[in-house]
Amino acid sequence: MRRIAVIGSGFSGLSCAAVLAEKGYKVTIFEKNESYGGRARQFKVDGFTFDMGPSWYWMPDVFERFFNRFNKKIDDYFKIKKLDPGFQIIKKDLNEMKISSKWNEILKLFEEYEEGSSISLEKFMDEAKFKYDFGINELVYEPGDSIFELFKSDIFKNIFKLQIFSSYRKHVNKYFKNDELKALMEFPVLFLGTAPKDTPALYSLMAYSGIKCGTYYPEGGFGSVIDGFVKLCKELSVEFLNNTNVKKINTDGSIAKSLETNRGTFEFDTIIASADYNHVEQSLLIEKQRNYSKEYWEKKVFSPSSLLFYLGVNKKIKKIEHHNLFFDEDIENHVNEIYKNPCWPSKPLFYVCCPSKTDKSVAPAGKENLFLLMPIAAGISDSEEMREKYFKIMIQRLESYCDEEILDHIEYKKSYCVDDFKNDYNAYKGNAYGLANTLTQTANLKPKIRNKKINNLFYTGQLTVPGPGVPPSIISGQVVADYIIKNNKINEIII
Ligand SMILES: Cc1cc2nc3c(=O)[nH]c(=O)nc-3n(C[C@H](O)[C@H](O)[C@H](O)COP(=O)(O)OP(=O)(O)OC[C@H]3O[C@@H](n4cnc5c(N)ncnc54)[C@H](O)[C@@H]3O)c2cc1C
Repeated sequence: MRRIAVIGSGFSGLSCAAVLAEKGYKVTIFEKNESYGGRARQFKVDGFTFDMGPSWYWMPDVFERFFNRFNKKIDDYFKIKKLDPGFQIIKKDLNEMKISSKWNEILKLFEEYEEGSSISLEKFMDEAKFKYDFGINELVYEPGDSIFELFKSDIFKNIFKLQIFSSYRKHVNKYFKNDELKALMEFPVLFLGTAPKDTPALYSLMAYSGIKCGTYYPEGGFGSVIDGFVKLCKELSVEFLNNTNVKKINTDGSIAKSLETNRGTFEFDTIIASADYNHVEQSLLIEKQRNYSKEYWEKKVFSPSSLLFYLGVNKKIKKIEHHNLFFDEDIENHVNEIYKNPCWPSKPLFYVCCPSKTDKSVAPAGKENLFLLMPIAAGISDSEEMREKYFKIMIQRLESYCDEEILDHIEYKKSYCVDDFKNDYNAYKGNAYGLANTLTQTANLKPKIRNKKINNLFYTGQLTVPGPGVPPSIISGQVVADYIIKNNKINEIII
């Protein structure tokens, strides 16, 4: 039986392992950390359960489609519910814009801000739906291995309709005039780790998913989704090794032979690296075996890192919803301080998640579970003083919006920032969400899924196709597994 190693237990590693195990391969996952899930890990303390990374569950069809491959449903592993409101935006005047889960309510809201904009929104979403259906069902499952993929008749025919080559900001401006509506429509692509003006208009599919299809919540938090993936893998006989740090990929000519770890050396027929691409190339391979040089990575646009706070609050907080976006300062200014002139932001935007509004299991009775996220430039210098400075800024703004004291009610507090991303995940420059989805870093222009010099070494995860986010990472694992299975069949890969 062929033995396959997967380095990393994030969503991409887990989905890749499950697909290969189902085909009869003997798969082992190597994870350097104690717990599985990578950036989507969870930790529990003093009765609170904190998701460490993702909190927005969008594109539920991608999760369902994954489980359907195994003749399962997500319901067999975890439960999701639709949030209402999906989220709220705190505006400059400290009033909020609540995004309902009901489409007719959203249309009404648009009319309140700009007469006639509900018609524009319908048109925008019709177009975005086409991109979503085509993009998510066809395009993103391509391995990005050859430019000829784009010449497949249905892709080539639709390439201009997909608007890969025009800017998302210009696209939004064609439909809406009101600045607050424009900010709302631009927010979903901030998830792609790019400035809206540099994001291809293709990604209006994100607005379709987040605004029209709605925001879901997995009961118990994202940790329960990871548990579901791990359970499925175990049912398929995937072996898990935690606290196992891969230090080197040993090769014989163009063949990878084994993994050197802190727990010994393990031999394999094929290796899939789902840890950060740059780390695998720079730290686990020697120079002549790498696909890309240090200079290549330095030139790439990375999505932001983040300053995060996990807070346990000993009372209930009235005005906040499950998802709260503090857009009470200038968006453009903060975006420039992430990408153009990387520095700690002068007037940051931030995001507050309060899952205990929806889920009693994540905080003790009468208490609140808070997660604060402030996007910052990847690679920025991290220090305790800076973390504290911005903690105070965020808490003050949260208090003034909520019109109640919060600081004195915090009974648990933990920060997480650039240095933690580096230490915990070997993240290049401490990035949180991988490579930004700019025009020159989309589809076939992303780092390749196969090592060009080592025949049996492959890459998956948020730094390769299709990109950052949980659904794309789940897709990425499947793309790589399918690529290996397909090419083995036609004997193109020698392993
Ligand atoms: C703060 C934050 C908020 C986010 N919010 C959202 C959201 O709301 N919705 C959404 O869809 N997405 C969100 N994302 C993005 C999403 O979490 C990621 O895109 C996705 O989880 C990445 O999965 P992955 O498998 O590519 O990588 P990872 O999850 O990073 O997995 C890689 C794994 O490799 C392991 N590893 C690294 N080096 C080694 C080594 N040498 N040996 C062994 N193991 C190693 C790491 O420990 C890690 O477990 C968020 C991310 C962050 C950080």
